[in-house]
Amino acid sequence: MKSLLDRFLSYVRVDTQSDPKSDSTPSTDKQWVLAKQLFEELKDIGLVEVTMDEKGYIMATLPANLEKEVPVIGFVSHYDTSPDFTATGVNPRIIKDYDGKDIVLNSEKNIVLSPDYFEDLLLYKGQDLIVTDGTTLLGADDKAGVAEIVTAMEYLIAHPEIRHGKVRIGFTPDEEIGRGAHHFDVEQFGAEWAYTMDGSQIGELEYENFNAARAKITARGKSVHPGYAKDKMVNAIGIITEFASRLPGEEVPEKTSGREGFFHIHHLEGSIESASLEMIIRDHDRARFEDRKRFLELIVAELNQKYPNALDIEMKDQYYNMREKVEPVYHIVEIAKEAMEQLGIAPIIKPIRGGTDGSQLSFKGLPCPNIFAGGHNFHGKYEYVPIQSMEKAVEVIIRICELTAGKS
Ligand SMILES: [Zn+2]
Repeated sequence: MKSLLDRFLSYVRVDTQSDPKSDSTPSTDKQWVLAKQLFEELKDIGLVEVTMDEKGYIMATLPANLEKEVPVIGFVSHYDTSPDFTATGVNPRIIKDYDGKDIVLNSEKNIVLSPDYFEDLLLYKGQDLIVTDGTTLLGADDKAGVAEIVTAMEYLIAHPEIRHGKVRIGFTPDEEIGRGAHHFDVEQFGAEWAYTMDGSQIGELEYENFNAARAKITARGKSVHPGYAKDKMVNAIGIITEFASRLPGEEVPEKTSGREGFFHIHHLEGSIESASLEMIIRDHDRARFEDRKRFLELIVAELNQKYPNALDIEMKDQYYNMREKVEPVYHIVEIAKEAMEQLGIAPIIKPIRGGTDGSQLSFKGLPCPNIFAGGHNFHGKYEYVPIQSMEKAVEVIIRICELTAGKS
């Protein structure tokens, strides 16, 4: 049997960065490399009904090993990594028996992973951490989840004395660009409910996420020689920054937490003739979310009065809070909670400040809370994962399978 660690290391060494600018699925060809590797591995470990479709969605079955009817459950994770940071040449390093001090990721570039800044590190004193060399992200998001699911399935195959119903697993491309669930065939998956293994810190159990939309605001200007510009020039840069200045300065990602929503401008470019900004809108509360979108339209309307028809707004909803789909079947959260408690893990139930494959899957008819995969500092060079957290995640998966069978 391949160890959890070896499995994880073999996945992160394959660059699977997704690309929001691409229209294909997977968004990048390189994701196929790991997809094909996983497809073969699932067959090798003895899973059945192993499928991979033309868009890179992988599914497999662990057959039930008991007589009675129990619910079919599933586990899902994504094998792409974030477009925010490079995943080319991931060179993981293991810090054994972490001493609670600074970890020099890269002495040449002076990149240090420090508990002074990342206090969570101190939770893992004495444990073994997998870190980067400071030049790439790690890809624990979400290759930790993939490795945990595969390892748990392999364990259950090797231990038929553990009784469980039919278990389905699913791996998706392109979660990091918000499309992981887009082509996920919920009917083919055929589970009553599932869990994404895509959370962070050990104990995390989430069934609330943001309602999410993105918007692009474009301003058109008129370029005139600056020396003769009075009452003639219309500067698109000025208009777009005026738009930005109307947004509430406190409602930004860096100043909000918990269930507080925000506006986040993540891209801005322009010239006098044309300027645009791209932003995302986030709120857990559906009514406040709709208010935020209306607010943007209102600012655009006002500025279009001031600068006749200079602005356009395009807005698109991305995903919604899964809470409304999970609450009616809350026992699926309770099973996960009980699994953790039985294993001595304190569940941390909190709203996700983001989305997961699970939120979209929940709206497609597959209620899908999110469970920790163990990593921290996703989408950047400070990403790390304690091996012990990954091992616990494997145990949680196994225990959920047992509990689901036992309770029916
Ligand atoms: Zn993820």
